[in-house]
Amino acid sequence: MADFTREYWETALSSIVLEGRCFIDGEYRCAKLGRTFARARPMDGQPGAVLARGEVADIDAAVASARRAFESGIWRHKEPGEKKRILLAWADLIRAHAEELALLETIDVGKPVLASLNVDVKLCADGIQYYAEVTDKLYDEIAPTGRQSRVLVRKVPLGVIGAITPWNYPMIIDAWKLGPAIAAGNSVVLKPAEQSSLSAVRLASLAVEAGLPPGVFNVVTGYGEEAGKPLALHMDVDMIAFTGSTEVGRLIMGYAAQSNIKRVALELGGKSPLVVFDDADLDAAASAVAWGCFYNSGETCHASTRLLVQRSVQQVLIEKIEAITRSDITLAHPFEPSAQIGALIDEAHMHKVLGFIADGEEEGARRAFGAERVLAETGGYYVSPGVFVDMTNDMSLARQEIFGPVLATISFDTEEEALRLANDTIYGLAGAVFTRDMDRAHRFSEALHAGTVWINTYDRSSFSTPFGGFKQSGFGRDRSVHAIDKYCDYKTIWQQFG
Ligand code: NAP
Repeated sequence: MADFTREYWETALSSIVLEGRCFIDGEYRCAKLGRTFARARPMDGQPGAVLARGEVADIDAAVASARRAFESGIWRHKEPGEKKRILLAWADLIRAHAEELALLETIDVGKPVLASLNVDVKLCADGIQYYAEVTDKLYDEIAPTGRQSRVLVRKVPLGVIGAITPWNYPMIIDAWKLGPAIAAGNSVVLKPAEQSSLSAVRLASLAVEAGLPPGVFNVVTGYGEEAGKPLALHMDVDMIAFTGSTEVGRLIMGYAAQSNIKRVALELGGKSPLVVFDDADLDAAASAVAWGCFYNSGETCHASTRLLVQRSVQQVLIEKIEAITRSDITLAHPFEPSAQIGALIDEAHMHKVLGFIADGEEEGARRAFGAERVLAETGGYYVSPGVFVDMTNDMSLARQEIFGPVLATISFDTEEEALRLANDTIYGLAGAVFTRDMDRAHRFSEALHAGTVWINTYDRSSFSTPFGGFKQSGFGRDRSVHAIDKYCDYKTIWQQFG
């Protein structure tokens, strides 16, 4: 294995191709109007990729290609074993190009390249493999209608899926959508976030190299308003699988209603509570809070951004969180092997995060440590992990999804109060409870209104567990075999005898 020093990645960067064209019908294509847009690298503010600025005409071309592939049956009618072989080959190619993909991801989004390599690329390949292996294990049903008939209840793919994804874990979230949608036999048009298109375009070319027929997976790069909106409004798209903010999710529902009543699945924002009772293992809780909130620079939908702590242990817990953050969660240039967290996605987002912090202080939240711009001399967009205390749940830092490394701490006295505070949010994506009292852990986890609840841990996940939210965190679940259902519907075929 290579020695992944900073110099190693600098050298690799000098020889890498930043392919920023769309990928439609099995080939790279410039935007029809010939327009492009440029990105600055979050890690140092230097010029990054130049990307095709896809618009209506490009979406039309990609949807037409996806529709042709679907109607021809070239993919959906393949033998299940053959589908599985192709998807497994795709997963293998992703692994074979892991370093290249990790570099593309880091140039785009500023996370440590070793995290891109060991987490994002790995989980993307694992996700495609998971659904490859499901492909030849899907059964249809025969309905119990009596001896005079044989009634098949078939699970059939929907057709053309529009996938619209965010920039925080681009490859992982793409795989969560591509895996089940394609395994089920659909064609996909993916509009990645404007900040993170490079890995999506490369994934599409690797898919064709693995044997996926042209048109089954297309990528149109561009802005949300110009490429995402026409995809969501398209009359020949059967479903939009969206991950992103609650604000844009609301628009997507509107576009579906205004066009062809296409189906919509929404994985949206969060403001997840992590609740610590005074009988908890405080070392374990402190580690879970620090990593749960600050990993990926806090740019995580299910980050544990609201710490609810029993008043008697607040002081000691905050001290432990600070110690872990300072000793373990190294913020550095993403090519440094020591980096645990890197830069925020772009300059505008960094200023937005700093604005939230300033507003919070004005409202009376007290900074315990961190939450400042750092490494400004690099030209990159870095904010240090930070904790606020002396807060109430109605302060903006406790209610808004900041999407930066900022923890809001609120203390409570009783279990009832903790539960009320935990559920007092428009979101319902995730949450956790730390206590040694297992009756309470069970009671609390049942009553917490969230798609995932962890007990005495945080952010454990597996492809076998569904992921998604309640309330304004959206609906529809990614991951697990249940995700396949989202991309299919039932079709009844009734045969009468005699
Ligand atoms: P975002 O601003 O909502 O953008 C998400 C995607 O929607 C991007 O591809 C974006 O394109 C596109 N878009 C923007 N406006 C659009 C429009 N009018 N019509 C169609 N598409 C449009 O979210 P983000 O800033 O990329 O990501 C952060 C958000 O994602 C957070 O709220 C986070 O919680 C959420 N998230 C949720 C999950 C989950 O599983 N629940 C996972 C990860 C992230 P542009 O990039 O060009 O704007």
